[in-house]
Amino acid sequence: MIEALRKRIDEAAQVVIFTGAGISTESGIPDFRSPGGVWTRYAPIYFNEFVASAESRREAWRRKFELDETLLTARPNKGHRAIARLAHIGKVRHVITQNIDNLHQDSGLSENQVIELHGNGTYATCLDCGARHELEAIKAAFLLDEEPPVCRLCGGIVKSATISFGQAMPEEPMRRAREATLACDLFLAVGSSLQVYPAAGFPILARRNGADLVILNREPTPLDDIASLVIHEEIGAVLAQVARLNDH
Ligand code: NAD
Ligand code: ZN
Repeated sequence: MIEALRKRIDEAAQVVIFTGAGISTESGIPDFRSPGGVWTRYAPIYFNEFVASAESRREAWRRKFELDETLLTARPNKGHRAIARLAHIGKVRHVITQNIDNLHQDSGLSENQVIELHGNGTYATCLDCGARHELEAIKAAFLLDEEPPVCRLCGGIVKSATISFGQAMPEEPMRRAREATLACDLFLAVGSSLQVYPAAGFPILARRNGADLVILNREPTPLDDIASLVIHEEIGAVLAQVARLNDH
């Protein structure tokens, strides 16, 4: 199986890697479905509630700071490093990720190489003017009076730079992801249950466009049937071998 994946990567001209929460579990960040995880403990706060109500914003920031300890201290694992190596040698030009943990960038990929479909949880932005705000300063102020932050430049609402339920998908990353998907001849989906749309539409688009589709995930996914190779194994071990990380 691993040998088959390695061969496909060797033979491909342009590989796109598509990642989900599964690639980051080995860094200690729980995936979506883990029992007891924060994701299952709270009902999601929808985007329109966040915008409409200061109380919802207060609750969103409380939860965010509860979650952040894990998110902000996590380090890239073998899987991220293997992908960075494949990018470094020119095999992989783009990584499309559903993750918000910044670990692909932390493993050495540039902003141009990473396409974030669901935003980034390691900083915040103003919903009106787009200015970036750092979490540390927001947290220090929030802990004093629990007032939800506003933009110092324009007075707009400041929100974690992630895409919430009910929030429009970010246009530019969606456009870039589509372009990368149509340009590749091998699309490798790693650590995603492939159930969240529109993100899960990209492997389907790749397949329709004639690319080879390979899925690496511990559990079966609804797209296993249309893949040409499916590997139900642990991500770090498989990718490290594929990228020959152990040889160096
Ligand atoms: P998911 O939780 O739906 O699916 C993850 C898949 O990875 C599961 O099928 C699981 O079996 C598999 N997996 C987990 N660890 C693995 C390992 N070590 N080896 C092999 N397989 C492994 O995740 P998703 O498809 O990305 O969708 C969840 C949504 O939640 C995404 O939209 C994402 O934005 C968000 N989310 C992000 C993070 C993060 O940034 N790290 C974490 C949790 C959720
Ligand atoms: Zn602003």
